[in-house]
Amino acid sequence: MLQPLYLAAEMSIKQLSTSVIVIGAGPAGAGASFFLSKYEIPHIVLEKESFPRDKVCGDACSGKTALVINRANPEWLTEILDDSKTFMPSWGIKFVAPNGKALDIPFSPKRTKETKAPGFTVSRLVLDNFLFGKMASPYCTIYQHAKVGTITSADGQVKVNMTHEGTEYEITAPVIIGADGDKSIVRKKYLSENTSPKTYAVGLRGYYEGVTGMHDENFIELHFLPEMLPGYLWVFPLPNGVANVGVGILSETIREKKINLREQMLYAIKNNPQIAPRFANATLTDKIQGWGLPLAMERQPLSGDNFMLVGDAGALIDPFSGEGIGNALYSGMLAAAGIKEAREQNNYSAAFLKTAYDDVLYKRLGDEMKISATLQRLCKYPWLFNFVVNKAYKSKSLRDTISCMFTDMDLREQLSKPSFYLKILFNK
Ligand SMILES: Cc1cc2nc3c(=O)[nH]c(=O)nc-3n(C[C@H](O)[C@H](O)[C@H](O)COP(=O)(O)OP(=O)(O)OC[C@H]3O[C@@H](n4cnc5c(N)ncnc54)[C@H](O)[C@@H]3O)c2cc1C
Repeated sequence: MLQPLYLAAEMSIKQLSTSVIVIGAGPAGAGASFFLSKYEIPHIVLEKESFPRDKVCGDACSGKTALVINRANPEWLTEILDDSKTFMPSWGIKFVAPNGKALDIPFSPKRTKETKAPGFTVSRLVLDNFLFGKMASPYCTIYQHAKVGTITSADGQVKVNMTHEGTEYEITAPVIIGADGDKSIVRKKYLSENTSPKTYAVGLRGYYEGVTGMHDENFIELHFLPEMLPGYLWVFPLPNGVANVGVGILSETIREKKINLREQMLYAIKNNPQIAPRFANATLTDKIQGWGLPLAMERQPLSGDNFMLVGDAGALIDPFSGEGIGNALYSGMLAAAGIKEAREQNNYSAAFLKTAYDDVLYKRLGDEMKISATLQRLCKYPWLFNFVVNKAYKSKSLRDTISCMFTDMDLREQLSKPSFYLKILFNK
């Protein structure tokens, strides 16, 4: 007997069941996957692209990136540190104030021969492919070029419809992790954008060859140009004489000042007295590309019944530095730890996941994010920036204090207090 058509269609849908569905295999998805595998929790990762794939970024990785990779597997970090031709060690940061004065701040003021560079730069094409390769595990099944359709939740289970190489799948799990970046479909599904609006910045990135005047210890450079505050132009050295050059600025500033970001970036490269001479013989090797940066300006929900958001999907980019790779990996790691607890208690409710994930994340990163949000607001005032840089230019102890702020959160908190500025005003 012939089957009715709808029955035949239903029968061709492959049914899969797992413990966790992860959407996205960028740093956030990789971070989650590393630790789910460590806890022996089976999971399915659905990625719409195929690796290696590019991601518009400044390509600078901080100590937090190294920390999570080291916790996942110390051998992976050794691989990175041993391959300085690919993962270029960076020892510090150059701040250029709106008045053009530059300040070199090393990341490790108390450095010995054994000290490893706290940060590194590497193109995202390479970094993300490296992380992707490390996801291979008996607990992890990955579908690349996956086309995710509907996501539904019912009776404590999440169902995801997905098409892969012409085959339709229905995947069921008690929890889903949204690691699908800035335009997250998981966030859209579970969080109303009206109740949890994101604070946005926009960034442009271009790869240049032949930029001169780089620091010989590969300091990354942030140029706080008056016309871009509270945003900045960056020049980050990469291996093989390449530089990642870009601008990042708040979306509301773009709207208010009707800025054409691309024109402004190219204008600074051509005309800024500090920058232009260094680009005299430089060539742009790829087209300039843009992408959004969802910033962690204030605490937002990161989970609910049967779902969690990590990385850009959770709007976790540091609002001052624009750093998101470290927070993506870190939030992935904490989400996996939260799921481990949820599994033990068989409880994937909003209340449980909030305690096991959101609260842990904000306890560890909340202060840092608050300070960064305040710093970003303060950057609106060029006179304040000029004042601090002018003072630090003359005072080694102030430079050392700022240097220590990269690792010491209590010290960094000083930056958001008026007493800090009064102290340096009176040279105390
Ligand atoms: C211009 C710019 C400069 C930046 N510079 C820096 C920097 O120097 N240092 C730093 O630390 N951070 C920087 N950031 C931030 C950083 O790029 C992000 O925070 C980081 O990429 C977040 O990682 P993620 O895994 O959350 O998201 P992503 O890296 O965006 O990864 C998301 C993954 O999900 C996949 N995906 C998306 N939608 C779907 C779907 N529907 N189905 C399946 N898969 C899907 C994507 O293909 C992708 O692989 C910058 C950002 C911008 C825009």
